[in-house]
Amino acid sequence: MTPTTSAASPAFLPGDRPDRFAAALRQAVAGGLLGEEQPVAGFLDTDGVRHAVAALRDAFAGVPGVPVLHTFAAKAASLVPVLRLLASCGMGCEVASPGELRLAVEAGFAPEKIVLDSPAKTRAELRSALSLGVAVNADSFDELRRVGDLRSAGTASVLGLRVNPQVGSGSIGAMSTATATSKFGVPLRDAGVREQVVRAFAERPWLTRLHAHVGSQGCPLDLIAEGIAETYRLAEEINATVGARRVTGIDIGGGLPVNFADEEDRPAFHDYVTALRTAAPGLFDGRYALVTEFGRSLLAKNGFIGARVEYTKDAGGRRIALTHAGAQIATRTVLMPEAWPLRVGAFDGEGRPRGGPPMVQDIAGPCCFAGDVVAHGRELPELREGDFVALYDTGAYYFSTHWAYNSLPRPAVHGFALGPGGEVRFAPVRDAQSLDSLAAESGLAHVDALTGPTAPTGPGTAR
Ligand SMILES: *Cc1c(COP(=O)(O)O)cnc(C)c1O
Repeated sequence: MTPTTSAASPAFLPGDRPDRFAAALRQAVAGGLLGEEQPVAGFLDTDGVRHAVAALRDAFAGVPGVPVLHTFAAKAASLVPVLRLLASCGMGCEVASPGELRLAVEAGFAPEKIVLDSPAKTRAELRSALSLGVAVNADSFDELRRVGDLRSAGTASVLGLRVNPQVGSGSIGAMSTATATSKFGVPLRDAGVREQVVRAFAERPWLTRLHAHVGSQGCPLDLIAEGIAETYRLAEEINATVGARRVTGIDIGGGLPVNFADEEDRPAFHDYVTALRTAAPGLFDGRYALVTEFGRSLLAKNGFIGARVEYTKDAGGRRIALTHAGAQIATRTVLMPEAWPLRVGAFDGEGRPRGGPPMVQDIAGPCCFAGDVVAHGRELPELREGDFVALYDTGAYYFSTHWAYNSLPRPAVHGFALGPGGEVRFAPVRDAQSLDSLAAESGLAHVDALTGPTAPTGPGTAR
């Protein structure tokens, strides 16, 4: 069992975020968590996280009598202490790989609060999930057959099928899970598939849950709600056809987009619930247990990346600040700058907000490819060597999901909260990766494998 802590800190207001983050950055610099030795790190506001969970709860609690399991999508922050914090707030966990399942178990989530979704579960993964008793959503009819073969009559696992309502794409193709040709779920609008789904449920009394995850970033609320409404109508059709309550639960996934343009939490969870109640009023009448799987919308705005400015230079009339935050920690932003812009804050060498007239600057990273720029042509006070930048809204998918490009080490992650006197208290979430660890995961144990006495050789190999 994980300890339970109070859901929301009464002192926390989302409007305080800029001040809280500024205080955290200042103290991180003063305390050496950010500096020459540790030139980049991630920071997560734990009171902000608790507040977000409480807001999610409140939004769904407006409709009494509906049992809701809120799970957190582990891929949005695959860090054991963060998962444990969410477990302590009463959440469950959505996992999509053996690694994420392991993290969820280590974080203390009870099996009945874990949901396994992935489009490519192996037989071994399915066996282990079924023996643990975690919920499993099959992604295809083939996977459903495997689940049927592997399950034993007494399994505690709730079993479901993921459908793709095919309601269309948002503004970011790579983030749109409900297009006609999406790789996820069974495509409901393809010829004959809806009937096949109804039959699959009719033939399998143990299949009791429908799953849809429509989103995410770049998708309008109405599109997401329509995808869930379509899933609800399918549940009604299945139950009417079977003549019994075969589908007892609907997993509505996550996918609520996040506002990266400013501080506002928009859309809020209650906006989404309002859209859902309009699109599918029956979803909330108590006949279906609900599961949610939010990730980005819970954490993004509660974290930031701090990075040191190592140098500045001018090139072709453009000022460039060379920092330690690049594609290794802001991968999506660097590779798809139009789709994932980040707000940047400028701080001096002591971590105080930088003043001064705005100047157009590029904020570049340390990776060795020309596109490694986290912000293009931003107006910010002039940055200087030894200054710091903050990349906001990076609490989900950024510092927790490092890319090993250029053998740059995984940066440290720190949790923080403000004490009663406004002082910042830090706790380690993940240590910065050491060069030993980096060498080890780069095959150090096999250093002679290609050149030593046991190396594979071909006919033309001269020794
Ligand atoms: C990624 C994912 C989520 C979480 O998505 P967010 O956009 O972070 O809310 C939930 N469910 C499934 C199946 C996912 O793949």
